[in-house]
Amino acid sequence: MKTARNNILNLSRTELKEFVRSLGEPAYRADQILWWVYKKLATSFEEMTDLPLPLRQKLASGISLSNLTSIDEKISADGQTRKVLFRLDDGKTIESGFMLYGREGSSRERRTVCVSTQVGCPIGCAFCATGQQGFERNLNPGEIIEQVLYFMRSMNKDMGTDLARRPVTNVVFMGMGEPLANYEAVWQSIAMLNSKQGLNLGARQITISTVGLVPQIQRLARENIHVELAVSLHAASDELRNRLVPINKKYPLRQLMAACWEYFEKTGRRPTFEYALFRGINDSVGHARELAALLEGLTCHVNLIAGNPTKSKEFVPSPRKTVLAFQKQLTDSGISNTLRLSKGVDIEAGCGQLRSRWIAAR
Ligand code: SAH
Ligand code: SF4
Repeated sequence: MKTARNNILNLSRTELKEFVRSLGEPAYRADQILWWVYKKLATSFEEMTDLPLPLRQKLASGISLSNLTSIDEKISADGQTRKVLFRLDDGKTIESGFMLYGREGSSRERRTVCVSTQVGCPIGCAFCATGQQGFERNLNPGEIIEQVLYFMRSMNKDMGTDLARRPVTNVVFMGMGEPLANYEAVWQSIAMLNSKQGLNLGARQITISTVGLVPQIQRLARENIHVELAVSLHAASDELRNRLVPINKKYPLRQLMAACWEYFEKTGRRPTFEYALFRGINDSVGHARELAALLEGLTCHVNLIAGNPTKSKEFVPSPRKTVLAFQKQLTDSGISNTLRLSKGVDIEAGCGQLRSRWIAAR
């Protein structure tokens, strides 16, 4: 069985240089390999025709270029959302998504990959399909990066030679798992997504979504790549948030908000707050006022989402009328917000849903 150690996607540029040197080759070969992997989206070492044949053979026998196998794939009726279930080398499964926003070929076109960072999730939010599956393990950097490469490779085929259009423009860490609970691997993957020798995605094109791990948000604020930060808030009082997001007991709203202010001050990046509306739980006009009061003065944005249905009988999506009244109150209170249409509900694109269906079927 292949192990995480011998996946080339797990290696930073420096580590790859060391690796090629250990094979008796000059260090510049590392950049040639990176070019094939991240620019040409190669899926085998045989393709790397400017490398000497013996090196290609050594690479093929010593290290792998892929650790994910697609085992199920769904495309939404409008063709704009894709969801893939992957099997990892140890047999565990994760899911990733691809979403198309804006008219194809237009300057507003965005091709976003949503990646998982853990198998399951240790946080256990009450309304979340992933949280209910428990926690199995962290993903390594290569397993995170390959989720993006998978869609790039497949989009690249569809898009042919139109080089002006990039097969993937944005990456969001909003799949299964809590990215900041797997900090090192997530950060290594971001460094490669962002680097010139890697995928060369701008920091603004990368978003980390977190449940609100305060020390890690502070650490993120000190990094040299200033990615976008999304915080899954869902409630504006500790009493309610303790129920929805159990980690709130450890990092209550006062601490969380202070970390968000700090993030904005250190990075200049306006935080986004995710707020999923569940019927009769957090969706009243009073809740909207409470949210506006919590965010007052902070340069930020709120993404409102009608909750995705899960197995839970307690958490059902708010009716459209309630969602619109909530949004109106927020807007009237001067809070910048967007109502996100639930993309890909017909393919269970909500967090962890395709995987829970797959597990249930077995
Ligand atoms: N662990 C991270 C990132 C993964 S979850 C986090 O919690 O932010 C990605 C987003 O999906 C989060 O905003 C999460 O709160 C939201 N989510 C989970 N279950 C949901 C549901 N049933 N309906 C709507 N949003 C949901
Ligand atoms: Fe984990 Fe995020 Fe789901 Fe909470 S919402 S259980 S943190 S994946």
